[in-house]
Amino acid sequence: MTWRMLRRVAIAGIVGVCVLMANFRLNAQETGAKPQRVVIRAARLIDGKSGGVVRNGVVLVEGDKIAAVGAGVAIPADARVIDLGDATLLPGLIDVHTHLLMEMNGTNLNEQDTEMLRVVATQSTAERALLGAKLAREDLEAGITTVRDVGNSGMNGDVALRRAIARGWLPGPRIVASTRALAPQGGQFGRLTPEAQKLIEEEYVTIRGAESARQAVRQALFDGADCIKVIVNGTPADVTLEEMKAIVEEAHLAEVKVAAHAIGNKATKIAAEAGVDSIEHAYVVPDDVLKMMAEKHIYLVPTDGTMKTFEDMMFGTRVPSAKEKSDFEKGFQPFVEGERERLKRAKKMGVPIAAGSDMYLTMPGMSRGQASLLVYEAYAEAGLTPMEIIRAATSDAADLLGMKAQIGTLEVGKFADVIAVPGDPLNDVKALEHANFVMKGGMIVKN
Ligand SMILES: [Zn+2]
Repeated sequence: MTWRMLRRVAIAGIVGVCVLMANFRLNAQETGAKPQRVVIRAARLIDGKSGGVVRNGVVLVEGDKIAAVGAGVAIPADARVIDLGDATLLPGLIDVHTHLLMEMNGTNLNEQDTEMLRVVATQSTAERALLGAKLAREDLEAGITTVRDVGNSGMNGDVALRRAIARGWLPGPRIVASTRALAPQGGQFGRLTPEAQKLIEEEYVTIRGAESARQAVRQALFDGADCIKVIVNGTPADVTLEEMKAIVEEAHLAEVKVAAHAIGNKATKIAAEAGVDSIEHAYVVPDDVLKMMAEKHIYLVPTDGTMKTFEDMMFGTRVPSAKEKSDFEKGFQPFVEGERERLKRAKKMGVPIAAGSDMYLTMPGMSRGQASLLVYEAYAEAGLTPMEIIRAATSDAADLLGMKAQIGTLEVGKFADVIAVPGDPLNDVKALEHANFVMKGGMIVKN
């Protein structure tokens, strides 16, 4: 066949498929088929909105939305009933700081610069998107039904993953994608030779003044970003206040939020003054910045860890000697204590908090989802109550994402993102690490 004939056959094929699909849709409408109804029952229900627990909670799901919720919900005769017994129903969990297209070898915390190079120089965006497909499924199976993926996804691989999941090609959480993070000179690489510096733009967009910052935001939006991620701290230069203000202004014009990676007095202040929507990490942050964050409703995303997590990251499956272990703990103790102390201060000063894991390392014997939920233990160590942690991981996280109307609580009209955990998470927050039922948008992922 000639090329022209081939093309004609292909076009006819596409037209045929479109006609078929249109017919299918028409038929569904004509028959007036009701969406499938599912009732989920459990001993307890936390809706994420009211502060308490509902006994004998019921969620009625119609299609992809919640149709009724509470204790006294009438159960339609045609509904499929799922009775989970001694469990607690909750809104699907939200992780506002993920890196689903990045997996560094977690057997040596000290070699992250080398690991970054290894990933960026040896894995194409396509390869990383396939990794993302695996990790997205692992997140979803752990009960994480929405993530904000904040960069390190090659050339917009996060957008590709988001689209693939939204089209139903593969299972995964809803994704709020950032595309490449905006960064000062050098991005987050360590030292690079001039020849190797070409790699930087594969992973970051270098900001060179306010106008370049505006253009970078516009480019990110064109590339499909739902959110703008900025690395404020650089080595040696930071993003300037002028650049940061330009980024925030341009993003907010498009009604897109800005997440700022910032640590230390100077960088956190630049981010807060510019009016970003969340400050990530902020392991070191002064009180005047926390005060500004509380006043401006800027979320803190504490990507904290427990000593156990850091040890697992450091040693992997290898069993360290007693001396090695105690040396590591001694060295790391001030950092862990610093995290706890700053979260306590933030809570006291009324800074809104959204849960984010920043998990990007392999963790021995754990899926990405399981490893990501360990962050709740760090929050508990800082004195957050189980209910505060649940809110940080559901309704408050949804608020930060600008998705309060769709997700974050078990309320009528919202997407049926529902999980169940054994027992009562208000007694032991670790229950959140063991979701045994997961539903996303009315689709049962795990039962
Ligand atoms: Zn991160």
